[in-house]
Amino acid sequence: MASSRAPLAAARNAGALLDDLRTAVGEDAVITDALGLSEYLDPYSPLPQGHDMYRAAAAVRPASTEEVQAVVRIAARHRRPVWPVSTGRNLAYGGPAPGTPNAIMLDMRRMNRVLEVSERYAYALVEPGVSYFDLHKFIAVHYPQLWVDVPDLGWGSPVGNTAERGNGYLAAPYSDHFAAHCGMEVVLPDGGLLRTGMGALPGATTWQLYQYGFGPYLDGLFSQSNLGIITKLGIWLMPRPERYRPYMFTFPREHDLDAVVEILRPLRLAGVVQNAATIRSLLLEAAGGATRDQYCPGGGPVPPELYPQIMADQQIGFWNFYGAQYGTEAVIDAWWEQIRAAFAGIPGARWYLEEDRPPGSVLAHRARRMSGTPGLEDLKILDWAAPGGGHINVSPICPASGPDALAQYQMARDLCRRHGQDIMSDIIVGGRELHQILMIVFDRDSAEAKRQCLDLAVALVAEAAARGWGVYRTHLALMNQVAATYSWGDDALMRFTRILKDAVDPGQVLAPGKNGI
Ligand code: ADP
Repeated sequence: MASSRAPLAAARNAGALLDDLRTAVGEDAVITDALGLSEYLDPYSPLPQGHDMYRAAAAVRPASTEEVQAVVRIAARHRRPVWPVSTGRNLAYGGPAPGTPNAIMLDMRRMNRVLEVSERYAYALVEPGVSYFDLHKFIAVHYPQLWVDVPDLGWGSPVGNTAERGNGYLAAPYSDHFAAHCGMEVVLPDGGLLRTGMGALPGATTWQLYQYGFGPYLDGLFSQSNLGIITKLGIWLMPRPERYRPYMFTFPREHDLDAVVEILRPLRLAGVVQNAATIRSLLLEAAGGATRDQYCPGGGPVPPELYPQIMADQQIGFWNFYGAQYGTEAVIDAWWEQIRAAFAGIPGARWYLEEDRPPGSVLAHRARRMSGTPGLEDLKILDWAAPGGGHINVSPICPASGPDALAQYQMARDLCRRHGQDIMSDIIVGGRELHQILMIVFDRDSAEAKRQCLDLAVALVAEAAARGWGVYRTHLALMNQVAATYSWGDDALMRFTRILKDAVDPGQVLAPGKNGI
């Protein structure tokens, strides 16, 4: 069938569409009132208020895979796009809002069952509406020998976060959520259903044990994409270690980042630094315990002359490095000596264990994340520019080398200055590469601040790409720009992905336009 990339029918036959949806999922599971639909706006968005492209026309909350299939078929018949969300909390990147005009939100919060847990093989099989809080609680009560890898904010879901290729902070491979998933069930744009990997074998006994199955490995097609809706996901869990020791280092100077990353890379590659260790910049760290007002009552950005005072007040460094150790006492002690000695070579370095920092410190909450306990402490960062501020993240990847990390940070710092913003950088070092999560926070009530921050985000994406640094995940507002940066070979990647899209979704029903596809 030929693809129809024409705009979808607007409100045509909206009444008939809603009737069909109500018949499929029940009256109460179709939301059309303004208050109900306000839940499907990104509360932290940098876009001007009431930006129509990101406003849902209706929302539907199926309770089962069969109901998801029915919704997709109805939407196809009525030629209306559906936009799936699991818990709708992917908030630095657009959250619960659709990226397509006129979309029906397909909200899977009611599909919230933990379907299976295996203690022996350390995995869980979950539905999309299971949040990290839910899963952690369930596992802590029934399977205390297992840990769940959690991202910074625990209100999102393993399914949504894995779909977006998010990360957490346990040891490898658990911190890379896509790498640690095993087996998907997927509703296709025609309403059909498939299982990936070993799940394709009727009566399979290893769906959550072996990732690849037979033939082409399809799971990647269902991440950051609009080719299917994940309705079940297998995730691997970490066996609880005998001992656990979180730690923190602080480094006083901006340019120390170079040395920190050069020391860290070989330790990560050798597995001595075992987890997805993070390096947080001064103002991001300060936002855990202070607000910008305290230092700049007249408004920001904070001038560098104040940095030493902030470091002294908060007892933090310009760079603040968090890691954790897992294993037996003997291994932990031996590796700690190696880690400590390596970083102690940087002048002015200090190191702390949990008991060395005050209660409520950032180390205390990082310690919970690095041992798989979800929380919301990082929301405090949003208060930096104004109480309950908005935010958008720009997250370029670069090689895990000192000079690259420093150059990428300096590029971001200079652009932030030019746009009147503070630089807040959270660097997650994977071994060979690092994700530099640039957090842009702003006063949600200021149209001017929003405009400046969106301009800054656009400039960061463009400048990063010009230097060979691609963004790994993006806010809806930037997805076309980011997609266009992956243009090698005359847009070969995008052209091929669009061929797939047109083949499996010729009516452009499922999240058309997601990530430029
Ligand atoms: P979270 O559950 O972590 O809060 P969201 O529900 O906000 O994440 O989802 C983030 C994005 O991931 C959505 O906008 C959508 O593009 C994609 N997504 C979420 N859930 C699914 C799913 N079950 N299948 C396919 N894509 C999904």
